[in-house]
Amino acid sequence: MQGKRIFIYDTTLRDGEQSPGAGMMPDEKLRLARQLEILGVDIIEAGFPVSSAGEFIAVRQIARKIRGCQIAAMTRARITDINRTWEAVREAADPRIHIILPASDILLQYQLRKSRQEIMEITKMSVAHARTYTDDIEFSPMDATRTDKDFLCRLLEAAIDAGAKTVNIADTVGYAIPTEFGELIRYVSANVKNIGDHILSVHCHDDLGLAVANTLAAVEQGVSQVKCTINGIGERAGNAALEEVVMTLKTRNDRFGVQMRIKTEQIYKTSQLLTEITGIPVQPNKAIVGANAFAHEAGIHQDGLLKDTRTYEIMTPQSAGAPENRFILGKHSGRHAIRSYIEKTGYLVNESQLDDITTRFKGMADHCKNISDAELDAIVKKK
Ligand SMILES: [Zn+2]
Repeated sequence: MQGKRIFIYDTTLRDGEQSPGAGMMPDEKLRLARQLEILGVDIIEAGFPVSSAGEFIAVRQIARKIRGCQIAAMTRARITDINRTWEAVREAADPRIHIILPASDILLQYQLRKSRQEIMEITKMSVAHARTYTDDIEFSPMDATRTDKDFLCRLLEAAIDAGAKTVNIADTVGYAIPTEFGELIRYVSANVKNIGDHILSVHCHDDLGLAVANTLAAVEQGVSQVKCTINGIGERAGNAALEEVVMTLKTRNDRFGVQMRIKTEQIYKTSQLLTEITGIPVQPNKAIVGANAFAHEAGIHQDGLLKDTRTYEIMTPQSAGAPENRFILGKHSGRHAIRSYIEKTGYLVNESQLDDITTRFKGMADHCKNISDAELDAIVKKK
């Protein structure tokens, strides 16, 4: 791929782990981190070290052992939290401190009970403190999509002045819609005076099912870092799914014209490993990694695919490392697919036998949801 470089920041081990039931043991987090490294993500957010003793150990272990990508750890904007977070992540080959701070009036008024001015001061203080440890600081004003736009820009300017290298626009509550989110990114790019070559990032939630769409709208407006999780897991309805963001950028590179480091052939394996570790299955119709993502039942589609896969597949299953496309034989299937199945099993049939088998097959398909291979074999043998 040619064009602007997009950095993929994976937060499966932090935001993803906030999915109900997705808690992982330190060794499980390390196992997944190794696979994320093979997948080729640029940054792994390993966790939130102050949340528990076990989480601290998990982040430190990942920082020590994963050398092929940057390791980030998230912290609140407090001196003691930043100190402990740095302890957890400092041994990484390329460590990053990620500071989060509520920014919208709703959060300021009802959660923090602090003024905008106080938030501004905490931003400067926390970033400057983290900067004494490393120059790789990322700053995220939380709930940025419900934050006053001018205040948001002034906060980002203050964070950059204090030493933040990356600033992240978080749609923490999944409130934005794509056109609006794209406009916000454009506004921030134009109005943060010191943005220069600093990295602009986005973090989207899927409460309205728009996390991937919002992320892609931001890429169209020039952000260079996107945050996502495998299988889209995360707090509440989850985050932007890495597999969907990446495969869209790759499949529609004619529109996006960006470069990534991801080895897309590792996507399916990574998704399967996450399911194995968390026990949380992926819905069958999930894009890219669902069991039916490359399954075809419609007779017209099956006929086209047997002639040339480009007819009804915009990407190959192999490009995401997924199992080969599958033909589901059901009442929507046609003669061409049934013949293809029969020939694969080693039988030879003439046209009238094929007509007869197709008729009997459809008769059966009208009455049951799934026809097993054994039932189909029995119809063929009766030819
Ligand atoms: Zn989040």
